[in-house]
Amino acid sequence: MSDASQPTSAGGPRLEGPSDPEHDPTASYALEPSYTEALTRRVRATSGRTVQVDTPLSGAPLAHVPQSTDDDVEEAFARARRAQDTWARTPLEARAAMMMRFHDLVLERQDEIIDLIVLESGKARKHAFDEPLHIALTARYYARTIEKHLATERKMGVVPGLTRVEVNRVPKGVVGIISPWNYPFTMALCDGLPALLAGNAVVAKPDAQTMLSALLGARLLDEAGFPQDLWQVVAGPGSEIGTSILQRADYVCFTGSTATGKIIAKTCAERLVGCSLELGGKNPLLVLRDADLEKAAEGAVRAAFSNAGQLCVSIERMFVADQVYDRFLDRFVARTKAMTLGATLDWGNDMGSLVSQAQLDTVVAQVDDAVAKGARVLTGGRARPDLGPYFYEPTILEGVTPDMTCFGEETFGPVVSLYRFHDEAEAVSRANDGDYGLNGSIYSQDGDRARAMAREIRCGTVNINEAFGATFASIDSPMGGMRQSGMGRRQGSEGIHRYTESQSVATQRLVRFAPMLGMSDETYAKVMTANLKIMKKLGRA
Ligand code: NAD
Repeated sequence: MSDASQPTSAGGPRLEGPSDPEHDPTASYALEPSYTEALTRRVRATSGRTVQVDTPLSGAPLAHVPQSTDDDVEEAFARARRAQDTWARTPLEARAAMMMRFHDLVLERQDEIIDLIVLESGKARKHAFDEPLHIALTARYYARTIEKHLATERKMGVVPGLTRVEVNRVPKGVVGIISPWNYPFTMALCDGLPALLAGNAVVAKPDAQTMLSALLGARLLDEAGFPQDLWQVVAGPGSEIGTSILQRADYVCFTGSTATGKIIAKTCAERLVGCSLELGGKNPLLVLRDADLEKAAEGAVRAAFSNAGQLCVSIERMFVADQVYDRFLDRFVARTKAMTLGATLDWGNDMGSLVSQAQLDTVVAQVDDAVAKGARVLTGGRARPDLGPYFYEPTILEGVTPDMTCFGEETFGPVVSLYRFHDEAEAVSRANDGDYGLNGSIYSQDGDRARAMAREIRCGTVNINEAFGATFASIDSPMGGMRQSGMGRRQGSEGIHRYTESQSVATQRLVRFAPMLGMSDETYAKVMTANLKIMKKLGRA
């Protein structure tokens, strides 16, 4: 359990408390109230209501987060619109310079950020580190490529030399960002950074369980020099405050479950505004017969148990070639058994807690269902209340069949099923089973063969000899889901162009698109037809 005397970077001494200090004088907060109050003041909220947030590490309270009303969301949009108007005229270099200051702040303040993420989500410190890392990568990438993505671009005109065409990237306006709890700092920010750089304002609604990490992100944006009203934060239940955002945003970026994603898509369709949806997965990993088994087993641990499996790109199904199955299994099980679990802020733990009772209940129900129907537990399979209220052991299952819930449903926990395959075409077809298509992974020492196989995998990202980090951290390339795993992409040019409208401006000189010099319509048609044939001969597109 956490060490009560150890100070956190997030502010003040960290204390242990069994219950709500508002009602129990013997209880105490896990973070200094003055620190969390400074963060929660950033929420636009006038309801007078607050929601208590507890740390999954021990159940101790962290803060009381003020709740927004529909009127607060209205006010957030009004302020964001005014700020956006000026912001859209701010030169690209000035926007990029602020983003680079934000990058530096994220690196300088990473201890504070990581402490808060660990306290709020219960994850292991090494998994929390991935969040400032990903945000720094995203900030640097878009700051350094802003001109490439957003500067006015020349295009081919229809009449060479006489039609000059330019494409402008016009910001959409105010972008609504609805994000989940699993990567509270990354998910609250990573889609918003390109939205800002593209000249938009943002109204963000982070998940209720992890508001503090998102609010620290907002504070760092303020400190980096972004106008405060450009990034609004509102708080409340998704079905209420999320809906308020959907009714006002000029574009919506949503990360969360497929079920909620469909509601978002429907509402956006009715208003004819665009949206991008980053949803769930039931991600497959393939170990081919020529894989380096040590590397594959090491990667498999990260693939399945990073953030206790509460990761959209986490691997929940592993297909292993017959020839190497037993040797891979021995290595994977041994590495998993050796993992250390703990509820502390230090670097020592290989895995932390699940975020909530609801997540724990899902994991327990899925494993119990599988075991009752005949699956074998190779390691794990138990909750660990001795470590913290929502801990569950990293779990490997064998003999999982289609009648078990965990066969096709996303677990979003530290549970992976192993399957043996005999031929590779069959493995690919089983990997493509189901409705999801987010992330896949292939272990093989033959890069060409693995890349050829990747083309057959119906997932938005495929990592070769890595779990998910290679694509996730390569910000220049798009990331997102096929099929029920999403719509649209974050990262790369798609990740910033989604926040802009393309506007074509053509300037015509000398000739016009109508008969000239007394020419009849018929002659004009003949001249144009001859012109088309010449253009084809000249090889013009
Ligand atoms: P969720 O859909 O329940 O909630 C996500 C967010 O949506 C929260 O902020 C919530 O308040 C809000 N919300 C809920 N109902 C809403 C509604 N009707 N209207 C508007 N907003 C609403 O998801 P969750 O269970 O909290 O998160 C886990 C899911 O997120 C998993 O399925 C996971 O795979 C997915 N996820 C995907 C990615 C990705 O990049 N593809 C990343 C992280 C998580």
